[in-house]
Amino acid sequence: MVCDTTSLNIYKTLHAALSMKPGRRKIVAEGTSFPTNLYMAEGVRSTLDGATLALEGRDGDRIEDMIDADTAVVMLNHVDYRSGVIRDVKALTKLAHERGALVMVDMCHSAGVIPVDLHDLNVDFAVGCTYKYLNGGPGSPAYAYAAKRHHGKFTQPLSGWHGHAAPFKFEQSYRQGEGARALLCGTQHTLSMRALQSGLAVFDDVKITDLYSKGRALSDLFVQLVESFADDFGIGFYSPKDGTLRNGQVSLTHAEGGYAIVQALIARGVIGDFRQPNVMRFGFTPLYLRFADVWDAANHLYEVMKTDEWKEDRFNVVNTVT
Ligand SMILES: *Cc1c(COP(=O)(O)O)cnc(C)c1O
Repeated sequence: MVCDTTSLNIYKTLHAALSMKPGRRKIVAEGTSFPTNLYMAEGVRSTLDGATLALEGRDGDRIEDMIDADTAVVMLNHVDYRSGVIRDVKALTKLAHERGALVMVDMCHSAGVIPVDLHDLNVDFAVGCTYKYLNGGPGSPAYAYAAKRHHGKFTQPLSGWHGHAAPFKFEQSYRQGEGARALLCGTQHTLSMRALQSGLAVFDDVKITDLYSKGRALSDLFVQLVESFADDFGIGFYSPKDGTLRNGQVSLTHAEGGYAIVQALIARGVIGDFRQPNVMRFGFTPLYLRFADVWDAANHLYEVMKTDEWKEDRFNVVNTVT
């Protein structure tokens, strides 16, 4: 279902998974998750008696060792938002299933840039946004997925009228709709849906495997170009240099200047972003970025560093959105 926001869909699908495992009360997640995923898991926990949240990196070292007989659902990120590293969701899902737990995967940074096959991954639930690699535009709707084998077997608490079995019968109480319809809540942002349709139309006649190869080549080129001057300016690589390990994103680090460097680049028309504590993210969307754009971006980065442009006051004013 294309609907609502990623945050809301996380809330709904985590509840859905927990509703299928009444004897189990634990949510296991990656401590490095995008914050809203963790905040929403905390929200889910606050509504269920005895529910707990265990984080990899805080409550245990490896998620593999944390999935136990009390685990209802494991929330994973297909791709880490800071580093772009692809996680082996298929193997983790197999392990979770062997231990009786369900898996919910976030695809915000995978759908549209690397091949994704939810049937092959065999996950139980999934969510993601459409405003990154899916071209939906700012604030475009997110999506929520429930494997067909679970349809009719879960409930979720945001029981709005569009998730009802017969919304236009205007009945007095909720009767859950069939299949994935049960993940819907209220009226959707129709104008945003239309923009998303146009965004998705750009993918017509494009093979995702071709897209992935080009994304790899673009980001590999950026790595190669930045490598030639990174050490001179204290720039480090946060993403793995090996293109097979990441999506179409390259994250760099700089001890003091991360934020300001990104601002200076934005002023030059190279739009990346900054993520705490020191990460500069550059996303390469293969559908319409050219190799020449990558060349230019690396060149602008070189100039911003070489001339100390990033130290100018105007680039050191911290905005709300980074
Ligand atoms: C972008 C992103 C979100 C966004 O959540 P919204 O509720 O749609 O704002 C959530 N999780 C991850 C991993 C993201 O990358």
